[in-house]
Amino acid sequence: MTRRRKTRLAARRLAAIRRASRQARIGALLVSRVEDVRYLSGFTGDDSFLLTGRGWGVLVTDGRYGEQARRECRDVEVHVRQDSLIGAAVQLARTHKVRRLGVQAEDFTLLAAETLASQLKGGKVVPVRDVLGPLRAVKDAAEVAAVRKAVRVAEAAFRRLVARGRKGLIGRTERDVAGELDYLMRQAGASGPAFETIVAAGAHGSRPHHSSGRVSIRRGQAVLIDWGAQVDGYCSDLTRVVFTGTIPPKLAEIYRVVLRARAEGIGAARPGVMCKSVDIAAREAVCRAGHGEKFLHGLGHGVGLAVHEAPGLSRTSRTRLRAGMIVTVEPGIYLPGVGGIRIEDDILVTRRGRRILSTLPVGLAAMTLK
Ligand code: ZN
Ligand code: ZN
Repeated sequence: MTRRRKTRLAARRLAAIRRASRQARIGALLVSRVEDVRYLSGFTGDDSFLLTGRGWGVLVTDGRYGEQARRECRDVEVHVRQDSLIGAAVQLARTHKVRRLGVQAEDFTLLAAETLASQLKGGKVVPVRDVLGPLRAVKDAAEVAAVRKAVRVAEAAFRRLVARGRKGLIGRTERDVAGELDYLMRQAGASGPAFETIVAAGAHGSRPHHSSGRVSIRRGQAVLIDWGAQVDGYCSDLTRVVFTGTIPPKLAEIYRVVLRARAEGIGAARPGVMCKSVDIAAREAVCRAGHGEKFLHGLGHGVGLAVHEAPGLSRTSRTRLRAGMIVTVEPGIYLPGVGGIRIEDDILVTRRGRRILSTLPVGLAAMTLK
């Protein structure tokens, strides 16, 4: 991206946050969530915050990040603090005569808010909810390209992982396979995994967030793999179940149900549709097959700078899909003692409908390793 384009982009995001600040009647907002700081300033480090008010923005960081911050930040000043983070915020609020200082309710700790309030004499700390979520949910072209790249990298790593067929998995521990997938993602261009890779063999698949352990993968098992790459700060999030031999009949049955739910969910995703309707479309396919109460989570979530972000595709969501949103569609059925099936893809909502960003096959035959 050219420098000028980057500048315009950051300026637009800062303008949007200033509008939100006017609504909340705050003089400035202290942006502390690391993805939000990056989104607004371009700064890729952590332990820093962005203070932004009408017509000004300052990234407050420490000596470790001074050089990097000055290189990366386009539209905001960089302040390398000598003081504590809170002390620096108080000082800036005073300089800019800020009386009501907003903080991010989802991120700023109670302790930090209390400390800030006690030092901000005559001023008030105002918790502001979800200023950036709706903005970040709709991706611009560069962000879409970044997520696509994260999907490509994750898929390339997965293809290499399963290239040796079931021989490449049988006898190895879940943890070992997860470690290899992480390594393959880095080799393919990821800065790292987007979250802790899940490899769940056999009955372990019935726990949606199984922590990969020391048990070895055997022949004739379902192996659920949930993984994603982080590339240029953006994440992908995918799940496939591979079979190391003959498929246990119960799992083959629920696999087909999950495939139907996936098709229904993806088919329902288009701009203007309520997020909950997309969840319900997929869920009905699972309910029709009699497994409704074994679908233990929402259908999906937004993915971007964070692996879980707005909008949520769940029955309680009140948001509508908009073109530019990227969401996962991940129906699952979990049978304790037997195993679980989840298939997860990343979907871009387009002006006309949706595009599936992930390209890995999903059919039972393709997922059965030779
Ligand atoms: Zn996932
Ligand atoms: Zn997910």
